[in-house]
Amino acid sequence: MLRYCPTCNASSDDVRFIGEFCENCVKEKISKGIPDCATLEVCKSCGRIRTHEGYVQASRLAIKDALSLSLGVKWNISVNDFDWKKANLTFRKEYEGEEVAIPKDISIKIKKTMCTDCYRRTSGYFEATVQLRGKPEKVERVMGKLLKFIEARNAFVSRVDELDNGYDIYVSDKTIANAFFEYYELKPGRSYTLHGVKHGKKLYRNTYILRLEGVD
Ligand SMILES: [Zn+2]
Ligand SMILES: [Zn+2]
Repeated sequence: MLRYCPTCNASSDDVRFIGEFCENCVKEKISKGIPDCATLEVCKSCGRIRTHEGYVQASRLAIKDALSLSLGVKWNISVNDFDWKKANLTFRKEYEGEEVAIPKDISIKIKKTMCTDCYRRTSGYFEATVQLRGKPEKVERVMGKLLKFIEARNAFVSRVDELDNGYDIYVSDKTIANAFFEYYELKPGRSYTLHGVKHGKKLYRNTYILRLEGVD
């Protein structure tokens, strides 16, 4: 049966219909709701971009995810072209049970932020202090292992204090410090200090003291 679009009078012989209206009118209607611009949050310190998974390295997939985060759940998008200033996206939306795809150029705004990791790094954040004491060669060797261990696990050392008889090493993540001692079967002395309350939960900092004496 031949149908005519109530808006533009096009006939169903000439153009696809979606529900009551012709495809062109449906697209025009949907286009009005498509944003002209998306904002990407970029960490000014490490250059990673904010996605649904947190801050990650910019890749094709990450950029798509970051754009989705900015545009909201209303739009299912694919990225045809992207250059940090503008992008060509295809916006997809269900309308009357059918998928409508609309390509559009949008502009990209970059918002400089700082990710949690960089913020912690620059603010001297730490959860654990590892105190290494004893024979200098042994202290140096264990410290080397500790620094490598931490770096390999995406944590960081926010400060190292050199003392007469060893080092104090401030570690961002206490679970990593614990894992280090377990991995090397070391048995440090442990103490805990309360340093704050967050969301009703007490936060403790761990201090480990490792005495490295005697023969190897
Ligand atoms: Zn129409
Ligand atoms: Zn960062």
